[in-house]
Amino acid sequence: MSDDRQAIPLPWQRSDWQRLMQLFARDRLPHALLLAGGNGLGKGHFADMIAAKLLCEAPEQAAEGHVACGQCHGCRMRRAGYHPDLLNIPAPDLGRLIRIDAIRGINAFLSETAQQGGYRVVRIEGVEAMTIGAANALLKNLEEPGTRTLFLLLSDVPSRIMPTIMSRCQKFAFTPPSYAECHDWLLQHVADEQDARFWWQVAGGMPLAAVAQATPEARQLRQRLTELFDALVRGGDPVAEAARLDRQQLSAILEYGIRWLEDVVRLGLSGEADELRNTDMLPLYRQAVKNARVRDWFRLLDYAREQRRLIAQGNNPNPQLVLESWLIRWSALLRS
Ligand SMILES: [Zn+2]
Repeated sequence: MSDDRQAIPLPWQRSDWQRLMQLFARDRLPHALLLAGGNGLGKGHFADMIAAKLLCEAPEQAAEGHVACGQCHGCRMRRAGYHPDLLNIPAPDLGRLIRIDAIRGINAFLSETAQQGGYRVVRIEGVEAMTIGAANALLKNLEEPGTRTLFLLLSDVPSRIMPTIMSRCQKFAFTPPSYAECHDWLLQHVADEQDARFWWQVAGGMPLAAVAQATPEARQLRQRLTELFDALVRGGDPVAEAARLDRQQLSAILEYGIRWLEDVVRLGLSGEADELRNTDMLPLYRQAVKNARVRDWFRLLDYAREQRRLIAQGNNPNPQLVLESWLIRWSALLRS
């Protein structure tokens, strides 16, 4: 077995991989695959694995089906970061869009015959962030892909993709695995059992997100926000608290806030603590549910989600204003 980690499915992706390899074996691989699902499930890894398999000259039989060998000429080129038959269009920076120029590059790529005599792979991340022009240009490519060409489209938010693009793809939907399915993998990346369960829960069951959040920086931000909400409950000034936050971290702050608000709403609706992500925040949540109606917390959640959407679409609001008005609303509900 090769030491090419990119080629091995993550534990919770094994059945998806087997399903795909069966399609491949029957020569039923579609021209375009849409890998859809929340950020932190390993879609990127799965896409890399497919590209690796298709560009490998001597795939190996593993327990999960065929995987790239990691040693041949094709694998070596890919691992070195350049393979002539692989075109990679990365996700745009947060708030940016994929523009038509990036998609036009596909035409040039496809007009050349596969240099190694095998598949050509076009990998596009963040497909939902395409301009209309870019999406229409991509649609033309998807309509006439040519032989032995595979488009790998990745999206965290497939509901924002143009329906005409969706209809040309076979969809692979990734959902959060059970704790048992990712437990061993988590333990390889965090300190101990307690950390594994805690961060898995905090990340809403997204294993890669759990590991990313178990970093010292993310812990620090979370701790900072916990203190901030404690301060708000005790009557702290939301504007002063907002000024103390690092506005560069607006997205991460909103994300934490959204997850906490989702917990508050869950607790408010069911009265049960079993389904909460941030169990350590339970005292704050109880206070929140006691002080304001679920309906009002819902509204605040909508507001935070709307801000997140605006940021993702590149309509960058003033971060300081967003933080202030958000915390003012939050503190009003906590005190009402
Ligand atoms: Zn190989």
